[in-house]
Amino acid sequence: MSAFVTKKNREQVAQRAEFRCEYCLMPEKFSLFSFHIDHIRSIKHGGSNSLQNLAYSCGFCNGNKGTDLGTFLDDDETLVRFFNPRKDIWQEHFEIIEGAIHERSSIGKATIKIFRFNDVERVLERKLLLSGGFIHP
Ligand SMILES: [Zn+2]
Repeated sequence: MSAFVTKKNREQVAQRAEFRCEYCLMPEKFSLFSFHIDHIRSIKHGGSNSLQNLAYSCGFCNGNKGTDLGTFLDDDETLVRFFNPRKDIWQEHFEIIEGAIHERSSIGKATIKIFRFNDVERVLERKLLLSGGFIHP
């Protein structure tokens, strides 16, 4: 299957997400780069182009995620899946403290690790947007 997403579906995904990254909550209007349509379960792993499998994502989150579905944490034995914006509630897996995104679950921890939510420049940018009231966790 191809990863092609129709223009209509792209618009629907963006609107549903209120034009912000469904992973790190960055609003698109403050980004220098246009956002991506992420296949939550990548085509490579049997995902589809249905709206249920699509998420709106900033380039950082989408680029770091790639076609991955999850990762291993400290014990290195259990595969932990990433946060799924279609199934999971953001606040149950993450919280923002001083601009940094902290985990509230192992799913949150796996997502933060691979998506690199807390790279220095991303935290600084998030802090600024939070103080201006532009990010609503
Ligand atoms: Zn993001």
